[in-house]
Amino acid sequence: MNDDILRAPFTDDEVRILDVWQKNDYLHPYTCCDSEPMKATTDGLKCDKCGRLQEWVHDFSLRESAAEYNPSKNRNLGDAIYTTDDFKNKEENNE
Ligand SMILES: [Zn+2]
Repeated sequence: MNDDILRAPFTDDEVRILDVWQKNDYLHPYTCCDSEPMKATTDGLKCDKCGRLQEWVHDFSLRESAAEYNPSKNRNLGDAIYTTDDFKNKEENNE
């Protein structure tokens, strides 16, 4: 499992990919208060409720192929670990 940490500032392209990750129902988003998905910015992930700024992400979260994962399109998740249980079940059924 590749679990390298990447730190802000992020490029506009990285923010775009991270935003895709945060909104992908098949993946587990980075969350803060009340499991609210955090907002992707160049400074890091921001919580709109408490203002907390998380300045790091797992490297796979900035990988477009992982962020756009969709089992019906056979996207390759790579070695991402932030997945929902629902997604894990889908993956097992596909194999
Ligand atoms: Zn918060």
